[in-house]
Amino acid sequence: MIDPLEWLWPLADAPEPVVASHHVAGWPGGVLDRLTELGLLVEYELAARVLCPECRDHFEEVLACEGPGRATYSFISCPELRRVRVPRDARRQWAVNFAGLTSSLAAVMKLTGKVAELAPARVWRLGRTTWHGESRDVVLARGLTCCDATSVRAAITRARRPVVFVPHAKPDADFWSGRVPPVLALDQIATDTPGGIEIDPMEILAALREAEAQQAGDGAVPVTAEQLTLLIRRQIKAEHKSELTDDVYLAAYRQHGSMRKAAEFLSAETGTTISKDQVQRAVARAGGAAEVVNAEDSDSVVRPVASRSRDRRGKPVIRSQPDGEE
Ligand SMILES: [Zn+2]
Repeated sequence: MIDPLEWLWPLADAPEPVVASHHVAGWPGGVLDRLTELGLLVEYELAARVLCPECRDHFEEVLACEGPGRATYSFISCPELRRVRVPRDARRQWAVNFAGLTSSLAAVMKLTGKVAELAPARVWRLGRTTWHGESRDVVLARGLTCCDATSVRAAITRARRPVVFVPHAKPDADFWSGRVPPVLALDQIATDTPGGIEIDPMEILAALREAEAQQAGDGAVPVTAEQLTLLIRRQIKAEHKSELTDDVYLAAYRQHGSMRKAAEFLSAETGTTISKDQVQRAVARAGGAAEVVNAEDSDSVVRPVASRSRDRRGKPVIRSQPDGEE
C-alpha cells in the first residue's frame, strides 16, 4: 500500500524543496495527484534547465526559438541530436507548499495559536500544546542535517520548551546546545488517510516521555505492563530495597486506574508492602490525579496503558540500562 506522503518527506527536507517533471515521472501513479490535492505540493515555475527528453542523461539550459508564425518553442542543444524540442510538460516543477503543510499539521494536532515562520522557509511554530500543565511550542524545522543547520538552531531553541518535528532527517543530539528537545520525524509518525494527514498521538506522547526521562536521567520510560514490571525489577535490584521512582508509581496508577489497585500491584511486584499513601504522594507530586491521567492522552480519554499499540516502527521504548540487562 502506497503512502504518497513518503515521497513528500525527503523532498521537504531537501535544500531546494522542488521536484522536476522527469523525477515525478518515476513516482508511482497517483502520488503527485494526491500530494497536490492535499495542498502539500503546488505547481512551481517552469524549469530553466531540463533533462534531455531524448537521451535522458544530460541536463541542458532551455532555449527559446521563434517557430513558424509567431509561436515560440523551447529546445535544448543535445550532443547527439543537436537540437531537441522540449515540450512544456517536461519543464513543469512542483514545490512543497509549506503553508499548506504547516496548517495541516497544526490542525491535525489540534494546536492553539497561529502558525508563525521563525526562520525563513526553514522553521515554523505550528502552535502550542499543553504537556504536564506546561505550555509548549510545537515547531516544524527542515534541513536540520544540512551544513547550514546551525544558523537556524537559535530560532528553534528560542521557542518555549519546543517539541520539534522534522520531515525526515533528525539531527544528532550534539547539534543542540544545552537542553535537547524532543525531535520527531514525520516520516515515522504521519500517514495519509482519506481525511488527510494523520499523526499517531501515542508516538508524540512516547517521544515527550522519552525526552523527559532522558533529562531526568533515569533512562527508562514505562509504557506497557511488561515494561513496567521490568522497570520495577531493575529499580529494586539497583537499589537493593523497595525504592521506586515516581515514574513507576504514576505508571502503575495509570495502568490500574486506582491508587489502591496500584499499591496492591506494586506490593505484589516488589514483595514488600507499598501503601496507597505512597502512590497518592507520587500522584500529588505530579500535580494530582486528573493531571496524571490526562497527561497520558491529549483527548482526555483514559485507556489502560497496557492496551496501547506502541512501538509500531520498532523503536526502543526502554533503553539499555548501565548494567546491560535487557
Ligand atoms: Zn540529448
